[in-house]
Amino acid sequence: MRQVASEEVDVRSLEHALRKTIEGEVRFSPGDRALYSATGANYRQLPIGVVIPRTVDDVIATVTACRDHGAPLLSRGGGTGLAGQTTNVAVVIDFSKYLNRVLEIDAERKLARVEPGLILDHLRHAAEQEHQLTFGPDPSTHEYCTLGGMIASNSCGVRSVMAQFYGPGPRSSDNVHELDILLYDGRRLQVREGTSGDPEIDRRLTELRDRYADRIRARYPDIPRRVSGYNLDDLLPEKGLNVARALAGTESTCVTILGATVHLLHSPPVRSLLVLGYGSAADAGDHVMDVLEHKPLGLEGVDETLITDMTMLGRHNEDLSLLPDGRGWLLVEFGGETKDEADEKARKLMAELKKKGRDAPSGMKLYDDPPSEQHVWQVRESGLGATAFIPGKPDTYEGWEDSAVPPERVGQYLRDLGKLAGKYGYESALYGHYGQGCIHARWNFDLKTAEGIRKYRSFVDEAADLVLSHGGSISGEHGDGQSRAELLPKMFGPELVEGFREFKSIWDPDWKMNPGKVVDPYGITENLRLGTDFAPARVKTHFSFSKDHGSFGHATTRCVGIGKCRRTEGGVMCPSYMVTREEKHTTRGRAHILWEMLNGEELELWRDKEVFEALDLCLSCKGCTHDCPVNVDLPTLKAEFLSHYYERRLRPRTAYAFGLIDQAARLASKVPALVNFVTQTRPFDAVAKAAMGVSQKRHIPPFASPTLTDWFTRRPERDGAGGRRVILWADTFTNYFHAKIGAAAVEALEDAGYYVVIPQCAGHLCCGRPLYDYGMLDLARRYAEKVIDHLRDDIRAGTPVVGIEPSCVAVFKDEFPKLLTLDEDAERLAKQAFHLSEFLAQEGYEPPPLPGKALLHGHCHHKATGGISPEKKLLERMGLEVEELDSGCCGMAGGWGYEPDHYEVSMACGERVLLPKVREASPETLVVADGFSCRSQIEQGGTGRGAMHLAEVIKLAREQGSIPPYPGRALSAPSRKNGRVRAAAALLGASALATAAFAYRSK
Ligand SMILES: Cc1cc2nc3c(=O)[nH]c(=O)nc-3n(C[C@H](O)[C@H](O)[C@H](O)COP(=O)(O)OP(=O)(O)OC[C@H]3O[C@@H](n4cnc5c(N)ncnc54)[C@H](O)[C@@H]3O)c2cc1C
Ligand code: SF4
Ligand code: SF4
Repeated sequence: MRQVASEEVDVRSLEHALRKTIEGEVRFSPGDRALYSATGANYRQLPIGVVIPRTVDDVIATVTACRDHGAPLLSRGGGTGLAGQTTNVAVVIDFSKYLNRVLEIDAERKLARVEPGLILDHLRHAAEQEHQLTFGPDPSTHEYCTLGGMIASNSCGVRSVMAQFYGPGPRSSDNVHELDILLYDGRRLQVREGTSGDPEIDRRLTELRDRYADRIRARYPDIPRRVSGYNLDDLLPEKGLNVARALAGTESTCVTILGATVHLLHSPPVRSLLVLGYGSAADAGDHVMDVLEHKPLGLEGVDETLITDMTMLGRHNEDLSLLPDGRGWLLVEFGGETKDEADEKARKLMAELKKKGRDAPSGMKLYDDPPSEQHVWQVRESGLGATAFIPGKPDTYEGWEDSAVPPERVGQYLRDLGKLAGKYGYESALYGHYGQGCIHARWNFDLKTAEGIRKYRSFVDEAADLVLSHGGSISGEHGDGQSRAELLPKMFGPELVEGFREFKSIWDPDWKMNPGKVVDPYGITENLRLGTDFAPARVKTHFSFSKDHGSFGHATTRCVGIGKCRRTEGGVMCPSYMVTREEKHTTRGRAHILWEMLNGEELELWRDKEVFEALDLCLSCKGCTHDCPVNVDLPTLKAEFLSHYYERRLRPRTAYAFGLIDQAARLASKVPALVNFVTQTRPFDAVAKAAMGVSQKRHIPPFASPTLTDWFTRRPERDGAGGRRVILWADTFTNYFHAKIGAAAVEALEDAGYYVVIPQCAGHLCCGRPLYDYGMLDLARRYAEKVIDHLRDDIRAGTPVVGIEPSCVAVFKDEFPKLLTLDEDAERLAKQAFHLSEFLAQEGYEPPPLPGKALLHGHCHHKATGGISPEKKLLERMGLEVEELDSGCCGMAGGWGYEPDHYEVSMACGERVLLPKVREASPETLVVADGFSCRSQIEQGGTGRGAMHLAEVIKLAREQGSIPPYPGRALSAPSRKNGRVRAAAALLGASALATAAFAYRSK
């Protein structure tokens, strides 16, 4: 009854029918299925296929086709479900790409009509900006989880406390007014309080409810976070036969949600954060009720282990040291129309708590600066994902991560749960929504051995008994899915579980909706993504993957499906998803498809075209290495993949043109005038671009003459030159293209009192940055070894190595140690390599004054390897009013944005924030961008502006002291010249091809 395996469905015929009938996308390839085979839960099931509907009519047609073919169905939003409810052997309907709009906000009635794929924050921003309203329950995944997913899982969040005290109730179900639903049999209904819109269904629901009413009243715990089980209690007469609420939390097992009307509540515009310290997390839990009397908007608990774990991960140290005394904390949020009003509520609570004598908190802190408050919340919010991989500790998993008890039992439950875990040798931070009794954890289960899995199963059994003995719920917000469904008879008894079966049968008599989840479930230990047969291909790699025990396989497992890489704005990760809105172009999608490739069930090891395609739009921006809570490192995975994918194969021309740009530039620098004439003159530039495989819409940057190294070598000896020795790294881009920036950097360092040395050697020195982007790792290793050999004495002498181009500094800080694991000097270099601004700021350099305004765009590699706050501070010290752009990756990403196939996405990345902001900037505003790629994108992105490197800004300040109009104006486009130099064009084309041939032979 339960599972319908894909073999029982005529998949080809189904796919054909879908392609014929729907306007949206139909994806049935192995790669597409692999992308949807897992979420953040412990489970993996390959779907039959994926449909991405453009319209509600598409959804209806999809359900019809599935019905005609007897195929099971599963809806999906952000794919962040943590209980295994979002994976199945079914046709997956992904609502998130197109059906994601706010349809209407009725401020008077405090209602919003939404499509199911709408991201929660998109609703909250619209409701807040226009009407000071909000949707109460806010999962930590609020930036990318969808309303459909939230309603179907009955999600909650920090502000569920606000929704409980000031709104319709804590859970998503409490905040649903009406649902537009589709049954598997094709009926479309509007369900709400009092009716399903179908008299026969109403009759059956009423009959079911009447039969089970007494048991429901007896067995459903009256606590804020009862999320386990179907909401049969919402059918009771005292709740008005609320069919919409009863269907919320059914996890795609009953109906498909086509739209929802949800309740909004007033959102106090100003918030205050009060943190209370106690002797332990359990002590903090004991005092939850004292705080709840004051009706806060949020009441969270954090324990010492979470703080230690976060400190070990290097996240938010500074801010955490500002927590008040204690080993367990309550985070209390109050709201008001003004800051005084919100603070006053917090102070009142503090005054009352002080009177409690021995029961008073050991420390209290009312925060008064928004950045610190934000950081404390971030630490709490990122807990569930970030604690998956703590250095030196075993990996941890979901599985007992959201149980809930009555709030007054939190302290005792924490003590008992800690004891039970100790009995099993499990460890976890215990934190979460203490104000509503919901406790989060990630346990070090062993999900790879038979014994480990038996132990895990036994633990959840005992944990379920424990939470029920406290009058609690097995799930307090993530739902039952597969992780907990098998335990439901313990909580509700066999009769009510039979009631659940009957309820499901009313909606889904054919049992085709998300089969095996919630009702008649798969076992907790079935379909495990790891499991006893987990045996990813063991592969030999170029990189060490030392944070992953030397395993490429573990590095792909690192993605725990949190979904932060599905954010649509803010931060760097993940630029390609931000513009394509495709799962395939998220960090998660890429990590998952690599995982599936190693798993070997559907995808070919190293050679699979679909894996290549998923990785192709990765800009190697390193956003994920920094922004992903578990630091999934896609650039390294991609470089490793490409190195194997191209083994014994010719790479595309661009790989040689850009991968070996240092060699080509070295040759070109011998005849810069000739090469510039060709590359900057129409129509020869077109020939050159074609030869190199560059998009015709791009411009090849002109070569500098002289190069930085030539200028440096030839300049007169400085009188009395002295100071501490500093190595300035003459990267390929600065040396051959933007040499003036290099000269400005030399002068800035000399102005700061340093003796500048630019390393040169008989052959050629290059960090090899572009080689990584094209997976040319054998060559990259040779380059790295040469650099280290050349710098070895200076590295050992502790000489700082300062870089001008952020992406090259990032190679020293990030790539070298991963590639040259056996060379201690690579580690040393990583510690003594600095971005120019980082170095000047740490050395206390006093920059010359330059009043005015600046727009600052940080290179994504700069952000991932130290951050750009030192740069911002330096510019501010100069007297500039700095606007730091939240512009993510500029979209150029080295040679990537020059490739014809990448041009559109590259420009779309730039157009997200950076290019419009530059266009809006006043003529006197400095546009500061340290990255060569970023400056090129600005110059070529139709802004009419050029950007300056920090070194140039310092030079401008020193030499002029004021900002001229349009500082750093864009270089002009290639001019039209006659055909006298055709030979030169041919020469360049030939040299490009020769480069390609050389590179191929050298493999
Ligand atoms: C790190 C992390 C932190 C989390 N924190 C919280 C938290 O604080 N609070 C909380 O409540 N949850 C939390 N979750 C769980 C999860 O984020 C929430 O349940 C979220 O609401 C799921 O939304 P989604 O869009 O990702 O849903 P999905 O995972 O895509 O789907 C969830 C369920 O809804 C069903 N569904 C989706 N769309 C429809 C539709 N149109 N019709 C019918 N069924 C549909 C799916 O089939 C599935 O059963 C967390 C998860 C992670 C990984
Ligand atoms: S890549 Fe990182 S942010 Fe994205 S889903 Fe995986 S763990 Fe989460
Ligand atoms: S490197 Fe950048 S583009 Fe690639 S997956 Fe990471 S965040 Fe996305």
